[in-house]
Amino acid sequence: MTAEERIHPVPGLPETPAQKRTSRALRRRVVFLDRDGTLIVDKNYLKDPAQITLVPHAANAVRAFNYALVPVIIVSNQSGIARGLLTEQDYSAQRARIDDLLEERSAFVDDHYHCPHHPDITGPCECRKPGIGMFERAILEHQIDAAASFFIGDKLRDLLPAKAYGARGFLVPSPETSPEDVQGALAEGFELVASLADAAAKALGIPHATES
Ligand SMILES: [Mg+2]
Ligand SMILES: [Zn+2]
Repeated sequence: MTAEERIHPVPGLPETPAQKRTSRALRRRVVFLDRDGTLIVDKNYLKDPAQITLVPHAANAVRAFNYALVPVIIVSNQSGIARGLLTEQDYSAQRARIDDLLEERSAFVDDHYHCPHHPDITGPCECRKPGIGMFERAILEHQIDAAASFFIGDKLRDLLPAKAYGARGFLVPSPETSPEDVQGALAEGFELVASLADAAAKALGIPHATES
């Protein structure tokens, strides 16, 4: 893909409000990464930061994006907050713990976004994936070229926002991934990969990183 193609919207796709308000000259590609089941082991409404463990080799993939100067943006549905199972303070402590675990492995994420809502409890919101609200905020705050960015997660709803931008999505199945999500992702033209390291290798066009 040439630089010229990258900074223009995908033909036939209208730009979203955030894309329209972002300076083309500054736009850069990023990776939008799901958190639970993709970067950290999914423990269903995790509360205690001490229980956080990274998915094996996930830090290698994050480091590969860091070396390639592709910002890594975490985008996470956290309906446990709406359900009263954890607080915003718990979430902030988790975020700090994840940053520490990555730092121990010489990797980092550039920013974290989360949706604290659940439609049954707090009503409809624009941020809960597959909504694009969190992505729209990130695009403005980080001057993102969304069409050239990568969407990675273990659920179809992590990837569906890529459709609004004409971007690539990678499904990395976890134990929580349903067969319907796999079928749905393939039907939508997303790529199925074995690990986050595989997704990074494909996204960056580099040989598979060694699993060490
Ligand atoms: Mg997930
Ligand atoms: Zn929300």
